[in-house]
Amino acid sequence: MASLNHALRALLLGGVLMAPGAAIAHPDLATFVAAAFSKEPVTVDCTLENGVGAKCYEITVNYLPEGLKIGPFCPATLDDAGGIWHWTGENGGLYRVDAEFLKMLDGLGYRFFDDDGTVHVVDNATERPTVDHACINVSADETVKITMRLPVTPVMAETPTVLGVVGKVGVALDGVPIFSDAPSIQQTGHMPALDTCGGHIDPGGWYHWHATSTDIDTVFDQAKVGAHCALEQDSRALFGYAFDGYPMVGSTEMDGTAAAGLDQCNGHVGETALGVTYHYHASEEFPNLPGCLVGVQAQNNFSTTATAGIGATRAGEGGRNEPPRPDDGGPGHVPPGFDEAAASLGVTTDVLMQALGNPQGGRPDLAAAAENLGTTEAKLRAVLPPPPGR
Ligand SMILES: [Zn+2]
Ligand SMILES: [Zn+2]
Repeated sequence: MASLNHALRALLLGGVLMAPGAAIAHPDLATFVAAAFSKEPVTVDCTLENGVGAKCYEITVNYLPEGLKIGPFCPATLDDAGGIWHWTGENGGLYRVDAEFLKMLDGLGYRFFDDDGTVHVVDNATERPTVDHACINVSADETVKITMRLPVTPVMAETPTVLGVVGKVGVALDGVPIFSDAPSIQQTGHMPALDTCGGHIDPGGWYHWHATSTDIDTVFDQAKVGAHCALEQDSRALFGYAFDGYPMVGSTEMDGTAAAGLDQCNGHVGETALGVTYHYHASEEFPNLPGCLVGVQAQNNFSTTATAGIGATRAGEGGRNEPPRPDDGGPGHVPPGFDEAAASLGVTTDVLMQALGNPQGGRPDLAAAAENLGTTEAKLRAVLPPPPGR
């Protein structure tokens, strides 16, 4: 009976019929752009989020791939056109960041410009907004390196993982990390504008995608947005790999036909450049990324050498001005010992990290965290690793 169920599950996987035991493709490092890596990728032992030991590809990339042209993000004045923004309030939708859009936001109570037409542009690396509503345009930190891990053999999870705001999605073939929705203006007051390929710079100084950039013109066409990405557009092409190791392709199949039978994560089993495997498709709406991941990610699969932002390992040592923030700089890196602490409390690492806030950027309020976790401060203190000695 168990084996019958297993066979049925394989048949129904992704809502598409497939032969039981059909090959699941591994991420193929040869599909990455040669210059994507700052050093040779390696295969390492890793632990998946379900606690199972596995092999992972560990790849390290620079703050920005060599030769990738980025920006513009924020327009300097109302006479300029910047990048794009997905506005989620009244008249919601994808917009070019230009005078028309900024005046509409002004009408809704969000004023991003002065009377003379100068747009409030703030570089979060060196300054903090002094106005309620600023367009965030972070300068790059060319020294930053990012290390990511992908399972060599993708494994289906019991239930899909929903990707919320700034959830880790995966890595593009050019080595650029991919994240889900950027934080909204309603959440922060500010607009970390994207360029017309759907990327921008994290408070840590490194570039990342919030869209499938190689099929984003499809989105602009659908939403009638006057924007264009200068990268080669190909709806049939492999774009990158999700953090569960499954490939992510454009909005159509390899032969250009529409992808059919997609599940809630916008994926299914079918033919790809890597063979028959589960894969995600870009949607035709922004953000054209999967909203959830069906597979299991590796623990600690994202870290940077930056002093701020998502996955920062040098946070709090000065340098960049902006401490890790819950928006584009929230939970990512898990310091040593916290996985074990979470396990002994019977909660997931994410839940523990959320309860603690940012333990690297200052002293967490242990009493409040303990209450959130349904435990006592003494118990929490007992299981947490000692603070770094500095
Ligand atoms: Zn971002
Ligand atoms: Zn497909």
